[in-house]
Amino acid sequence: MAIKKDYYDVLGVGRAATQEEIKRAYRKLALQSHPDRHPNDPVAEARFKEINEAYEVLSDGDKRQRYDTFGHAATQAMPGFDFGGFGGVNEIFEMFFGERAGRARTGPRPGADLRMDVAISFEEAAFGVERDLTIPRGQACATCKGTGAEAGTSPKTCPDCRGTGQVRRATQSIFGQIVNVTTCPRCRGEGSIIEKPCQDCGGRGQVPGEKTVRVKIPGGVDTGSQMRLSGEGEPGPRGGPSGDLYLEIAVKPHPVLRRNGTDVIYELPISVAQAALGDRIEVPTIDGPSSVTVAPGTQYGTTFRLHGHGIPHLRSGRRGDQIVFVRVVIPKNLTEAQRKALQELGGVTGKPQPIEKGFFDRFKEAIGF
Ligand SMILES: [Zn+2]
Ligand SMILES: [Zn+2]
Repeated sequence: MAIKKDYYDVLGVGRAATQEEIKRAYRKLALQSHPDRHPNDPVAEARFKEINEAYEVLSDGDKRQRYDTFGHAATQAMPGFDFGGFGGVNEIFEMFFGERAGRARTGPRPGADLRMDVAISFEEAAFGVERDLTIPRGQACATCKGTGAEAGTSPKTCPDCRGTGQVRRATQSIFGQIVNVTTCPRCRGEGSIIEKPCQDCGGRGQVPGEKTVRVKIPGGVDTGSQMRLSGEGEPGPRGGPSGDLYLEIAVKPHPVLRRNGTDVIYELPISVAQAALGDRIEVPTIDGPSSVTVAPGTQYGTTFRLHGHGIPHLRSGRRGDQIVFVRVVIPKNLTEAQRKALQELGGVTGKPQPIEKGFFDRFKEAIGF
């Protein structure tokens, strides 16, 4: 990178020079070193550019003020500096952040990524499932065999980049000469051009189609989980690499089971009689029916933990628990006999009943507060 001379020195004026003095100095120097007077003289050419650059900054009140404050750094850091014809802001940016701003691409372009939603059942989310997914995606055109060129012709090597897909362009910037390597605009980096496009695919090299992909969804996924299937997206035009396929999982709700992380929550409805007298009751789990023993005098909110009957952790495979939460169902429409039986239980006293432990305490214990 060339070391920058002070703009005032370049024009040979003092820092307090008026706009008129700057203009006069510029005219004189520009005429002296004009390339027309010095054909094929790179030194004179560089000098001419240097003079123009200095003038462009010092003749503009705003740019001059920033230059006075920040020096040459102003031209890198401040917006609004665009030396038309001498390498603009974009080229400066490319030089420092070559990867980001002006990444040169070679070879055929990759295909687009595809996204697809996959709905699976509660149990499938727990244990994993294999699915055959039919993906609408392009396929190589049979007529041109994916080349995009009309039958009997073939793509030609791009004359602008000689098949490399890149062009080099030397430009002058405020830092001196910069060689930019950019994607060839003619062939868009593919290195070849098609003179007569295939009629069937319009030169894209592919036609709409579909493909079936077998996907193994691992146990432990949840709604919102994403899977990336590398190379299963759209094929790249004219033989380029395929994009990726992204699957987004949606888990259908279970009729009675709910999920809390790797735990499964089940609300077990029992009758007043079952709560008061006790019972052995079947409960559904994702592993099939299991059972819990409800002791006599079981209260609303009592919980049971069925160890290891929860969802496997997506990475470790360690299973959570199933938490059974007891809900006592209070009967609404009583027969006369039921009514009598309940009256015999007593308790219609106009006062609250004594309890052992609060419902909220048990609930908190159950969910692990
Ligand atoms: Zn074709
Ligand atoms: Zn090219």
